[in-house]
Amino acid sequence: MDELEPSQNKAPSHCSLSQLAKALIDRLQQEYLDTNEISLDLLVSLYQCFGNTFERALKQADSKPLILFKSTSGQQLWKVQSSDDTSIYILPHVNFCKCEAFKYQVLKQNVALTCKHYLSAEINYARKMFKLNKSVTRQ
Ligand SMILES: [Zn+2]
Repeated sequence: MDELEPSQNKAPSHCSLSQLAKALIDRLQQEYLDTNEISLDLLVSLYQCFGNTFERALKQADSKPLILFKSTSGQQLWKVQSSDDTSIYILPHVNFCKCEAFKYQVLKQNVALTCKHYLSAEINYARKMFKLNKSVTRQ
């Protein structure tokens, strides 16, 4: 009877992560706070949840820095570099990215939960591996 997961229903918003994915990202941050590393158990869970996206995100997180912009009023913006070194801006903890993978695999085909850019930003944010940029760009 209960074999279908509720998440199989048409979600009202494609951009919101599933409860599980969110919980795993929260756990990622908590584990880094507590132990400064990711447990094997969590790594496996993340891989099971995000699949290849997680693998790509780990590579991305290790090779491309996360830049955190912080305005004087405390608003934040994340910047990551794509493979061809284009800058991608991401609202912190908001699962959305302007890349092609997000457009097709997440929004159109619904075969991935997110893209490597968003996930790598979450990973590096949790690991506190980001460069803080406090200067606010003037128009
Ligand atoms: Zn992306």
